[in-house]
Amino acid sequence: MAEFDLFVIGGGSGGVACARRAASYGARVALVEEDRMGGTCVHRGCIPKKFMVYASHFAHDFEDAAGYGWQVGTPKFHWPDLVAAKSTELDRLKGIYENLLNKSGVTSIAGRGRISGANAVAVGDETHVAKNILIATGGWPVMPDIPGVELAISSNEIFDLAEKPKRLVVVGGGYIACEFACVFAGLGAEVTQLYRGDMVLRGFDMDVREVACEEMGNGGVNIRLGTNAVKLEKTAGGIAVTTTHGDVIEADQVLFATGRAPNTSGIGLEDAGVVLNHKGAVTVDSSSQTSVENVFAVGDCTDRINLTPVAVHEGRCLAETLFNNNPQDPDHRDVATAVFTQPEIGVVGLSEEEARTHCAHVDIFKTRFRPLKHTLSGRNTTIFMKLVVDRDSDKVVGCHMIGDASGELVQLLGVAIKAGATKAHFDATMAVHPTAAEEFVTMYEPVS
Ligand code: FAD
Ligand code: NDP
Repeated sequence: MAEFDLFVIGGGSGGVACARRAASYGARVALVEEDRMGGTCVHRGCIPKKFMVYASHFAHDFEDAAGYGWQVGTPKFHWPDLVAAKSTELDRLKGIYENLLNKSGVTSIAGRGRISGANAVAVGDETHVAKNILIATGGWPVMPDIPGVELAISSNEIFDLAEKPKRLVVVGGGYIACEFACVFAGLGAEVTQLYRGDMVLRGFDMDVREVACEEMGNGGVNIRLGTNAVKLEKTAGGIAVTTTHGDVIEADQVLFATGRAPNTSGIGLEDAGVVLNHKGAVTVDSSSQTSVENVFAVGDCTDRINLTPVAVHEGRCLAETLFNNNPQDPDHRDVATAVFTQPEIGVVGLSEEEARTHCAHVDIFKTRFRPLKHTLSGRNTTIFMKLVVDRDSDKVVGCHMIGDASGELVQLLGVAIKAGATKAHFDATMAVHPTAAEEFVTMYEPVS
């Protein structure tokens, strides 16, 4: 029986990144995947989601073109074509992942992995021996326990619906709920989003949450705050959703985007002595080591920051530590993130609320304006930008934007924040005119 230096359970962003980097240093690596190589990001997350965001955006582009003299006619959208094109591309990506692993010398195994001893992973009837084991099993959507919930879908199913819903109810107020509410509103569906709290996108800067909510409303999403779904029933015309206020909304599909839970049950973790937290996430130290010396965990199954680049970074740091004599703890500070709503949200660093608890004095610079493009298109939308500055050090500790290409912009602002840029650096940076981004370097006066 072959003995591996590293046995990875889960072929998603974190597992594949760690396996390939470890193999590049000569480690004997195996990786077991029970579904499609590439994991959530490739097959049920970032990539198919972004295709749908692009598809949805065309609706705006066709409308906006009229203001610039174009006569586009009446555009027609055919959902099955989008689903088919998306699936072809995901098959291609799966093949690329398999090839990359193969070329790196990683032994790929199809099946469900389960820790069966201190140095053993069972896959079906076979047991593999490994010096180190990595749990990279990701997460899975959580559906609330309410009557009729089996009539609803999660984000796993939304990418392959046979038909585009004409009426969609989305439950939740996080990343997935807001993104898909905007996608389907753009594609022409009547979208009602129910969120139990008082403002969507909990955890983000309050200005960002409020502006995003308003802009999503302008974009056609009917957001109902302080409202949840309590019951779903099949009707002749679709699904009836009863809300906490007692009213009933009828829809063709109901999407629950009510969070994700780590995939950590039934894989032998408890028997192996691997400690899980109250949410079922694998407890790890700063180097991604679990309570068992030779067992490590990265990515969503650890519930640190559940984003693809973070899972990749955690996986690569671990490979550096174990196989390149180059100990590296993943750095979870100032991770830039985008919410692909319409308009998009881009954030790096602290919210104003967080900064006020960390810094003695905080200066806020913000602006909201109508983008030049939409003076002619007539679209009812604005761009919002905000800088959060630690007055004592002059460091910019948070950048926030809502508007087209926010994700692209905040990627680069992230470099400035990582480099410790001060407000004086922003002020000394020459603007690129005419752009929206120039406002980030021309906000001279703090708000009172
Ligand atoms: P995963 O990618 O989930 O991989 C885990 C793998 O382990 C899976 O392939 C699973 O089949 C396999 N597995 C599980 N148990 C076993 C077992 N016992 N044996 C064998 N295999 C097993 N992040 C972003 O950064 N940007 C985005 O735009 C973005 N959009 C998203 C949109 C949606 C709808 C969703 C759901 C997520 C999105 N994310 C996004 C989050 C991102 O997809 C995850 O953070 C990332 O995929 C986590 O990688 P991972 O390696 O931890 O887990
Ligand atoms: P989130 O944790 O972001 O949001 C879950 C939402 O569901 C919250 O609004 C929560 O409300 C609500 N909720 C939870 N339980 C219930 C319930 N029983 N009834 C009603 N509402 C409920 O999870 P998502 O599923 O949206 O996404 C999971 C993670 O995936 C994200 O946190 C992010 O890390 C990642 N992701 C990243 C994306 C990106 O980078 N663009 C895109 C999509 C996902 P409350 O706020 O009150 O708790």
